[in-house]
This record gives sequence, structure tokens and C-alpha cells, in this order.
Amino acid sequence: MIPSKTPKVLKQFFSTYAWDFASKKENTLYLTFDDGPIPEVTEFVLEQLSKYNAKGTFFCIGDNIRRHPDIFDKIISQEHAVGNHTMNHLKAWKTNSEIYLKNIMDCEQIIEKYAGNQNKPTLFRPPYGQISYSKFKVLEKLGYKIILWDVLSKDWESNTSPETCLQYVLQNTEPGSIIVFHDSLKASKNLTYALPRVLEHFTKKGFLFEAISA
Ligand SMILES: [Zn+2]
Repeated sequence: MIPSKTPKVLKQFFSTYAWDFASKKENTLYLTFDDGPIPEVTEFVLEQLSKYNAKGTFFCIGDNIRRHPDIFDKIISQEHAVGNHTMNHLKAWKTNSEIYLKNIMDCEQIIEKYAGNQNKPTLFRPPYGQISYSKFKVLEKLGYKIILWDVLSKDWESNTSPETCLQYVLQNTEPGSIIVFHDSLKASKNLTYALPRVLEHFTKKGFLFEAISA
């Protein structure tokens, strides 16, 4: 089973990847949204973030940007950060390096096409959290930072209830945590319940939500 809180030992062992920014700022949290952009769900997320003056980081699938450039444009114009999540959501451990890296480059190109060169993506989140050392070394050379996570909402799991999803986040979040949600159809039931409550809970406690900077 995938833990909703990333164990410390794992973070220490793979310390070249970013799991959290605990050392950076005490009262800051980093919300991340994977697998969009899509109509309605991504738009719901944007509305919620703007209500709380929060910034997030969207790890976009290139093919979804291609299909919904208008929604991608809203993410950019509202000054959230975007990262590369491959063109077709590939599994690193099942894909040879050449195909995998080409798929990342395809996503990079489409991000640059719609976001402009100044928004060249430098953040990468591997689908399923799968990355190998050899692929990491190539990405590092290309200037990418690998962003993993500290807290998983498990919003996509059909056997996780909305309230359980919310509790995963409330109970596991610490200052500097990187929290994963999904702006996908699969996750929308849990996301639409948990996200507004997470924003409200931590805003009341004095936390700020910031985008991950390159
Ligand atoms: Zn994903």
C-alpha cells in the first residue's frame, strides 16, 4: 500500500529529489495538482485557490494541454507554477530511456508553445513517482528538478472516501509539506470535498500556499 505520509527514511535515502521544503519557510505549504489540465475539475481548483489567495503547482500531462490549451492558459495567467508530467503519463520503469525522454521533451515543447519561453518548465514529477537513477541523471543535465511529495491525498482511489482523503492531508501535513492532489475526473469526487477544507483549515492556522519555484 502507498503511504499517505512519505516515510523519513525514504526521503533521506533519495535525498536528491525534493520531497518537501521543510527547511525553507515555516508557515508555507505547497499544493500540487497532477494529470490536468481538464475542463471543470482544473477550473474548480483554480477557483478555490483564488478564493484563498493561494498559489499551486500543476504537473500537466502534455496531451491534456494540447486538448485544453484555454484551461492551461488560465493556470499560467493566474500565476501558478507548471511542471512537466510527460506527454502521455508514461511509467518510467516500463519504458526505455529514449522513448521516456522523448515523451518528456514533447511535453516540454507544448508547455513552451502555450506558456511562452519564459515559462520553460524546470520542474518534473514522474508519473506514479517512478524514476530511475539513469533517467534522473539525464533530466538533471537538462535542468530539471524532480519534485516528489510528502503527503498523498489519495484522492484518485475509489475506495478512499472524501472524509478519509481530507484526513490524510490534515493529519500528515507539516510546515513545508508538498501535498499531492489530482485535477482528474477520477479524483474529482474526493478533490472537490477535500481541497476547500484543506485551504480553509490551514489558512485559519496562518499558513500560506505558494507555488514551487524553479
Ligand atoms: Zn500522474
